[in-house]
Amino acid sequence: MLHVILSCLKRAALVSVLLLVVPTLNAQPISVVASFSILGDMVREVGGPYVEVTSLVGPNTDSHVFDPTPADAKRIASAQLVFVNGLGYEGWLDRLVKSSGYRGPIVVASKGISTSLELKGSHSHAQDEKREHPTHARAIPDPHAWQNLANAERYVQTIRIALAAALPAHSAAVEQRATDYIKRIRALDQATKAQIAAVAVERRKVITSHDAFGYFSQAYGVTFYSLQGLATASEPTAAEIVRIVDQIKKQKVTAIFTENISDPRVLDRIAKDSGAKVGGLLYADALTAPGTAADTYLKLFEHNVTTIVRGMSGQANE
Ligand SMILES: [Zn+2]
Repeated sequence: MLHVILSCLKRAALVSVLLLVVPTLNAQPISVVASFSILGDMVREVGGPYVEVTSLVGPNTDSHVFDPTPADAKRIASAQLVFVNGLGYEGWLDRLVKSSGYRGPIVVASKGISTSLELKGSHSHAQDEKREHPTHARAIPDPHAWQNLANAERYVQTIRIALAAALPAHSAAVEQRATDYIKRIRALDQATKAQIAAVAVERRKVITSHDAFGYFSQAYGVTFYSLQGLATASEPTAAEIVRIVDQIKKQKVTAIFTENISDPRVLDRIAKDSGAKVGGLLYADALTAPGTAADTYLKLFEHNVTTIVRGMSGQANE
């Protein structure tokens, strides 16, 4: 007992020392959970030192087939604010929130985004078959809205409003951070449009492993064909592969890209059969590990644009 009291006293002393040293940071950062790594990075950019962000689905991990653990329920239970993408992306979320007992706000980052892209769920989602609500054979919104930088700006506005409200003492700083971040997003949007405009329109046809680039396609004028339906859980059959190879030849697709959350072997085989170039690795749904090529949303986006443009131009990627 005495030991506990002493350690509490020590901690209290340490806290008061910190308060004296850093008077502007007198409030503890608030504990925030984001459903996946890309969204977690956006929240961190806006919240800066005022937030402690945990992403449930981490780097190089597929949110479509995520299986939450009791540790994830604990993370949500101790959060003051939870951010999710919405648009049906986190099929596992409702059950997780329920089991965690979390009663705080859940901010849907994609709020207000135009989801004109309605895609059919594909026929065999291994993951959906395990669930009570299969998504096959019906129209569902495409959740990958962050693949258009203009949508990312909307995400940041939503995050800004939520964080400014949750951090009244730091709302001005949060507003400023959001404004700076949006400037960088807009600059990358302009650079993306300029880079793609330099590629001949008839060469802007590529293949990816899953349908993650519908918003990119619409915003930047690149046609994406995908191996799978909307989710990564389905594997193309042999007959589908033959059909895809035919399509590549017919459409004169310039490049095929693999992803950090998908098995690259099928794409490699299709590239071999069709003669299309393997254009490198794209990051669709997850950041890469801290300290690597795509460990922030903006680095991820920039990497994808450079890789896609090189692939379409017939240049080799590493
Ligand atoms: Zn996806």
